[in-house]
Amino acid sequence: MFLELVGAFRCPRPHDLTWLVALALDLEDRDIVEGELGCPTCGARYPVVDGVVDFRGDAVASARRRTVAPDARALSELAMRAAALLALTEPGGVAVLTGTWAAAAHDVVALTENVNVLAIDPPYHVASGFGVSVALASDVLPLRPMSVRAIALDTAHATTRFAASSVAALLPHGRLLAPVATALPDGITELARDQREWVGERLQSVKLGRGKRASASPDRG
Ligand SMILES: [Zn+2]
Repeated sequence: MFLELVGAFRCPRPHDLTWLVALALDLEDRDIVEGELGCPTCGARYPVVDGVVDFRGDAVASARRRTVAPDARALSELAMRAAALLALTEPGGVAVLTGTWAAAAHDVVALTENVNVLAIDPPYHVASGFGVSVALASDVLPLRPMSVRAIALDTAHATTRFAASSVAALLPHGRLLAPVATALPDGITELARDQREWVGERLQSVKLGRGKRASASPDRG
């Protein structure tokens, strides 16, 4: 897990926002390979094992399902679709790929310039490192408000709760991609849709506490 991503994470438990504290037991380059993220507010501890940070909590101790990696061509096509729909041609920032999208995490890194990819609940073959960070999530995206530029939700992650936490985690004008069956969450304007997915953009101002009416027309008073 990329060290600089630690500042983007939040404790998924329902309490006020706090930064998580990283305890890196084994650091390779700028990736935490073994360690722990701790929440100073509620005391929750999230282990990092083989570079994978697990936010699911003690209740879910189930191992990740071992699956066969899709072939290279399928991964390359998936990565190109994700990069195009999420507008990842501009360099920099963090893009989040959940579930089936996360299968192409390393291909997306290869296609883009200085974009860090956070793979949430990826298939088993996706390893952490080389621009890809891996996290296992519960029912919300464990990221701070306005911390990432783009998020792709697969069917398993397109729940109302997960989608709402994703909108909150997006920067203004950040892109959200979801299956067509998913209702457009509050705060997202639809840009396009086809038979499979819609893609939308986060509004400048979203009702998250003290929101300014940034999109209001200029006042000529
Ligand atoms: Zn906490």
